[in-house]
Amino acid sequence: MTKPKLGLFIIADAELDNRLEAAKRLDIATAHLLAPLSRDRQPQNRRMLMQKFNRAGVQISAVFCQFEGESYSSIPVVKQTVGLVPAHLRQDRTKEAKAISDFAAELNVGITALHLGFIPEERETRDYQALVETTASFCDHCAANGQSLHLETGQESAEALLQFITDVGRKNLAINFDPANMILYGVAQPVPALKQLGDRVKSIHCKDAVWSDKPGETFGEQVPLGEGEVNIERFVQTLKSMGYTNPYTIEREIVGEDQLRDVEQGVKLLRKLIDDIYF
Ligand code: MG
Repeated sequence: MTKPKLGLFIIADAELDNRLEAAKRLDIATAHLLAPLSRDRQPQNRRMLMQKFNRAGVQISAVFCQFEGESYSSIPVVKQTVGLVPAHLRQDRTKEAKAISDFAAELNVGITALHLGFIPEERETRDYQALVETTASFCDHCAANGQSLHLETGQESAEALLQFITDVGRKNLAINFDPANMILYGVAQPVPALKQLGDRVKSIHCKDAVWSDKPGETFGEQVPLGEGEVNIERFVQTLKSMGYTNPYTIEREIVGEDQLRDVEQGVKLLRKLIDDIYF
């Protein structure tokens, strides 16, 4: 079986050069790039990004949307501010999301991804229908750019996410599975959820976390890969049994030297697990 490549989630901030240098040193071949805000997506910025990634030998496999005004400070704040779910922001953000898909296409990237936000449980409402229609229109925009659209997991159950994908009804709609988010948001045990989502999972984040003592009310805590409650070994075994061979993209949402140290530890762990489990 083809051995999956490793990847790194990269933010193009002041530490970009350090992250790319680390990726090169650790022989990480791919990356998920967090899209810069619109003021930093000018052609000259794009060319500079492309040059830096090319020089490091790192291929961008997906571009993740971020929107001005989003905050991950607490679970209630995420509900109010993140993604295309907040109704009063939906129109502007959908326009921005489509511009990010265009930016990704100019970088020759075949996946645009985003945190859609907390998908409502109640399906028989006008708001749910509007969210389905917005997502379908975003999928169509991505398809015209030759891309698929990946929804980051985390805030809702596997059942709710699958139902939403069925309701949107677009072939290029898939899932970026982040096992730690399931724990951080107090949603479910990640490995069973991964099995449930099955072949809709086309990309992943390798991130670990421990449960909150008030799951769903307060965030759990992110920890270095292998030190949390995801069970990374079972995670890799499950992905292999599903036939998953796309990149394993490490995401460590801290900054500075500590981030690079944890990424290096994560790379060692994943390389060993992939070598043992994929053959
Ligand atoms: Mg993630």
